[in-house]
Amino acid sequence: LYNQVQDLKGNIRVYCRVRPSLGGRSDFKSVVDSIEEGTITINTPAKYGKGCRSFNFNKVFGPTATQAEVFADTRPLIRSVLDGFNVCIFAYGQTGSGKTHTMTGPKDLTETSQGVNYRALSDLFFIAEQRKDTLHYDVSVQMIEIYNEQVRDLLVTEGLNKRYPFQLIIFLNNGFNVPDASLVHVESMYDVIDLMKLGHKNRAVGATALNDRSSRSHSCLTVHVQGRDVTSGAVLRGCMHLVDLAGSERVDKSEVAGDRLKEAQHINKSLSALGDVISSLAQKNSHVPYRNSKLTQLLQDSLGGQAKTLMFVHISPELNAVGETLSTLKFAERVATV
Ligand code: ADP
Ligand code: MG
Repeated sequence: LYNQVQDLKGNIRVYCRVRPSLGGRSDFKSVVDSIEEGTITINTPAKYGKGCRSFNFNKVFGPTATQAEVFADTRPLIRSVLDGFNVCIFAYGQTGSGKTHTMTGPKDLTETSQGVNYRALSDLFFIAEQRKDTLHYDVSVQMIEIYNEQVRDLLVTEGLNKRYPFQLIIFLNNGFNVPDASLVHVESMYDVIDLMKLGHKNRAVGATALNDRSSRSHSCLTVHVQGRDVTSGAVLRGCMHLVDLAGSERVDKSEVAGDRLKEAQHINKSLSALGDVISSLAQKNSHVPYRNSKLTQLLQDSLGGQAKTLMFVHISPELNAVGETLSTLKFAERVATV
């Protein structure tokens, strides 16, 4: 039923989330004029053609939306992974707009501030437990980073907590396209939390305070689920990719050179490749250009066909970010056929 409901609504959904102002000033004036169901209206300053501009999405979450509220609309996707479907969830937006907040949560993480990644896995274990009399599920995760079109394994085993029954599986015995990275079996949220810590630690390696690489790489948590029917022995497989994308801000070519320029060009290329893939799927084009970036190649099995895609588009409410906000919303409008 969940899949039928989703199918009626289409396999690609785009949600917009507005970050609250971080300064805590009571006289703060947001560039968001209004939010009404799926429509967000931006007050554009003169430089961008003074007036109001509206954008439509499947849903818009305002600055007061909680992590639980944001996740509530994602829930049906978790069920469909356990039903054997593939799912991709993306966080898009400029650096500082709240992507990591949505996917992971703030630095001082508590249970209520946990983001989509934790909630998704927690739901997955919960539903698997509910179904245990009829289906036996096996869950494994991978965590990778894509930086300058190169894939890095974030779950490398050095320093891995040996308390848990971690197991390295080299391949999956089916046609799935699995990144060549550690695939670790998990049994509970304790395992998941440990692995996320390891992944975040590994991700920080090589980054300095001035050179925070995390905003210029894509990070992807992939969850593989295999369910075996207790009576018939039939096996179903589903897979979910949770992707915190690199910052979408345009860099000024006249101001950067060398490594920064190269990074910026890679990010630009991969984000526009992702936009091209999603919009051609939304338009039901016969040719989908998966091969134009590492990210879309890796996710090919989980984008299109029966797979379900959810894109969270993030914007900042500040006036000084309005140029990026408008280009983010235009990007999202292109991929969303609402
Ligand atoms: P990004 O990953 O897009 O660069 P972050 O998620 O790191 O952005 O967010 C930037 C800052 O704003 C962080 O300090 C984060 O905790 C805060 N923040 C983002 N979104 C929210 C939100 N919805 N509510 C409260 N704080 C938020
Ligand atoms: Mg981030």
